[in-house]
Amino acid sequence: MKYERYRIPTAPAPNVASHPSRFKVRVNRIQLARLLLRELIRYRGDLPLVLSRPCVYGVFSGPVGGFLPREQLCVGCLRCTVEHPQVVQILPNPSHAKLGDSFFDSDKVATVLYEAATGRVPVRGAGYGGGFGGSGWDGMWTDMSEIVRPTRDGIHGRETISTAVDIGRIPRALEFDPAGNLIQPLPPLVSLPVPILFDWMPDLAQETTALRALRSAAGTLQTLMLEPLNLASEQEGASAPLVSPAEVDRLVEVGRRYPLIELDGWNSSAYQRLRSELPDSVVAIRLPLGQSPLDLAAHGVGVFHLAADYHGQGSDQFALPAIRATHDQLVRAGLREQVTLIGSGGITAAEHVPKAIIAGLDAVALDTALLVACQARIVGEWRRPGDGGLQMPAFDANWGAQRIVNLMASWRDQLLEVLGAMGLRELRRLRGEMGRAMFQADLELEAFAGIEGFENGRG
Ligand code: SF4
Repeated sequence: MKYERYRIPTAPAPNVASHPSRFKVRVNRIQLARLLLRELIRYRGDLPLVLSRPCVYGVFSGPVGGFLPREQLCVGCLRCTVEHPQVVQILPNPSHAKLGDSFFDSDKVATVLYEAATGRVPVRGAGYGGGFGGSGWDGMWTDMSEIVRPTRDGIHGRETISTAVDIGRIPRALEFDPAGNLIQPLPPLVSLPVPILFDWMPDLAQETTALRALRSAAGTLQTLMLEPLNLASEQEGASAPLVSPAEVDRLVEVGRRYPLIELDGWNSSAYQRLRSELPDSVVAIRLPLGQSPLDLAAHGVGVFHLAADYHGQGSDQFALPAIRATHDQLVRAGLREQVTLIGSGGITAAEHVPKAIIAGLDAVALDTALLVACQARIVGEWRRPGDGGLQMPAFDANWGAQRIVNLMASWRDQLLEVLGAMGLRELRRLRGEMGRAMFQADLELEAFAGIEGFENGRG
């Protein structure tokens, strides 16, 4: 075996459909003409220099400069308006605010589009104008200490940080006979180089180009894509069938060795049949997030896929507390090390992946973000399959695959940043690492409890 460092091949894949820019750049042309005249005199007719000012992002560097600003390039740093308030004003674009839905909001959509187009990590710097807390995933902060990180620099490659994850039941202990042979054969295990799978979205059944793009991207990334049996059985490689108990007989008849099979809901006889007929495949049970896997884990089930809706809502609470509760339950029962938890629903930004893993998942399965990367437009509220509407632009499957690969490269780099900043060499050690998490609600309680008006203010 030869060691090969895992790399994700990025390439520019610009948008094929136009999207409203984040900002409107309003220019007072008379004031601009006066400014240009002054600048031309000051810089002795150096036109490229004059046109590059005051925006280093090139908004005013088009063929006619600031008279037709290139709004798509504006990152909202406000330098121009601070330096020349009489010439330019930067305003939020109301059409941009309508992108996405109440959960996958316009800022997240814009970020995913940038990541998918470039494969790079978005840098907001001083231009970040958002909140530093909030509900859902935003209520959790990660503790990243610069002190521990001098050599843990995963993005720049000075030290390898592994993002690999194992999916399968891990035996509590290995037992050997006197000759040194294992008494029980090891259960099957799938190792993925990234803790990210692609979940099945029923809306995809009508989107054949998007489906081809997703399969191709899953293959490039060496991960797995969940698909219904009729689609998965036609594919090689990256597909993992998602089957109902009624489909198990047909799956067994197909006789193909899949690395991972997901059973939709618990059914004891279907599960036992899969285990006995397809012993080389890892079998996962898909449960709604909020349903406890404890009993099943105690009876030998090794992999659970806990599925929330697209807004991250489990059966009775949001994904973050629900994952924590499930993880804690398994830890208290002494079963956590033996089982794998995959979670899906509501993971729409790079930072949600490490947050979900810190809360207790081993891996995540992505859904809506993959289609938004291909410039899908969400119409209405997209909480469950079939909700609202999904408008896909016309695109080529190779372009779509590259967009998804780029998105994953960017998200993996951001994951490496988190691991590096925490001084962790491998992702497996991040799971359940609650010492690296802070919760806004807890910190506020600690700081303000007992102060008159606080409790009401929180409500
Ligand atoms: S706000 Fe910043 S990025 Fe936008 S036009 Fe002005 S200088 Fe350029």
